[in-house]
Amino acid sequence: MTNPLYDRMFGKHAGKDTPFLYLPDGTVLSHADFLEKAARIAHVLTENGLRPGDRLAAQVEKSPMALALYAACVQAGVVFLPLNTAYTVDELSYFIENSGARTVVCDDARKTSLAPVAAEMNARIETLNADGSGSLTALAGAMPANYPTAERNEDDLAAFLYTSGTTGRSKGAMLTQKNLLSNAETLAGHWRFSAGDVLLHALPIFHTHGLFVATNITLEAGSSMIFLPKFDVDAMIEWMPRATAMMGVPTFYTRLLQDPRFTRDLTSHMRLFISGSAPLLADTHQEFEKRTGHRILERYGMTETNMNTSNPYDGERRAGTVGFALPGVELKITDPETGETLPQGTVGQIEVRGPNVFKGYWQMPEKTAAELREDGFFITGDLGLIDADGYVHIVGRNKDLIISGGYNIYPKEIELVLDAQPGVQESAVIGVPHADFGETVLGLIVPAPGETPDLEAVMSAAGSSLARFKHPRKLVLVDSLPRNTMGKVQKNVLREQYGDMFV
Ligand code: ATP
Ligand code: MG
Repeated sequence: MTNPLYDRMFGKHAGKDTPFLYLPDGTVLSHADFLEKAARIAHVLTENGLRPGDRLAAQVEKSPMALALYAACVQAGVVFLPLNTAYTVDELSYFIENSGARTVVCDDARKTSLAPVAAEMNARIETLNADGSGSLTALAGAMPANYPTAERNEDDLAAFLYTSGTTGRSKGAMLTQKNLLSNAETLAGHWRFSAGDVLLHALPIFHTHGLFVATNITLEAGSSMIFLPKFDVDAMIEWMPRATAMMGVPTFYTRLLQDPRFTRDLTSHMRLFISGSAPLLADTHQEFEKRTGHRILERYGMTETNMNTSNPYDGERRAGTVGFALPGVELKITDPETGETLPQGTVGQIEVRGPNVFKGYWQMPEKTAAELREDGFFITGDLGLIDADGYVHIVGRNKDLIISGGYNIYPKEIELVLDAQPGVQESAVIGVPHADFGETVLGLIVPAPGETPDLEAVMSAAGSSLARFKHPRKLVLVDSLPRNTMGKVQKNVLREQYGDMFV
């Protein structure tokens, strides 16, 4: 009997009393303890009637039991569908119905409001609360600590992961065992994870970054994690001395840098800092190096593909770039009209192919056909270029491209100029409807703490370094940019907010 994902990532740790999770209350969960929890939960799922290939939707707070639920699904062959804890009941209903989940796991507080949806879908509800209590835990407690692992093969689905919904409604990406395994094996090697590593884990586990990148690599390498329920600067600073590596979204890094306790000493024994999920400002990269002596390693990926590129471990980690395609991943830059590969240095759409690329969007055959080519290349929706040294630069999303008076304008190019001006912390450039030009450029500026940038000076700096058609028509000061839980700037929210400025 085989189940490649379970056997190669989880099962190989069975019976080991090596540490897996260091918890905020000071307790340590060994690999054996963790796998026992998973096995008990797997029995509950089977008793609930879930069979290999069935879906389980979970909206649960981050906890060891929540992570064990993922392992249990893999062991029982059930497709795991983790959901953002910020989703409202209405949003959840969509995901539950859309996925055809047969079991829903949620907080006790949500049970009553989800009951009608679950009943309609003929799905069972179990509960799992932030503190680990709930019906799932109670049932699991009475189950045997060994589970006969369900037979699966590499092409079977392991998870439906919904995209972050930054550009529209979230889409369910169907990920196979092979998608997850191949990426975990590649990344663990590429970033040199080993049994001695302790990863500081403060990311959510409903998203690819915290669930698959961080957790799967840790399991693959036999490392351990300091498993914090959420990002909190005090806790990060308290635990950092016990870690060897950290993964974060760019806001983790900017927030750590704002704290004077975050020093070179505090990070002296750290081996590796990794950033992803949203662009890391070159400024942050440089300030981080100045403060700590470490160069953050930035990588690029997405729900549909896991990770695609990474800056090198040994070579130069170049600020403002996402490095090179990972081993086994092909990446090309193509013309959005013709699909032809463009010459090096030219901006185009980023396409990727490899064992990491998903099977398609759940119940969206048209979208799948439009984005996943027959030859296996996936059109990511991101725009970028490969520079003369082979580093991949992301210039933004296709949907954020501004077309003004027939010209293509890449917001990133303008943002880089605005960000460099005195008193500016960060900026977002969007296209808004304009009667003459179709769209025109609007720049939103977040001031650096305690400063008030001179917008006229910023405008004239932009004027002297950018071609006329790229000049922002207007600059607006804002306190902050709208971001979702993964730290991504929600440009669709901004476009909505400022959409009628020039019409
Ligand atoms: P949706 O597809 O629903 O609009 P989303 O694309 O934000 O949401 P995710 O799959 O979580 O959902 O995010 C993947 C995207 O995040 C990538 O396509 C890319 O735009 C962005 N991204 C990830 N890593 C980086 C990075 N290092 N630099 C710039 N952008 C990044
Ligand atoms: Mg996307």
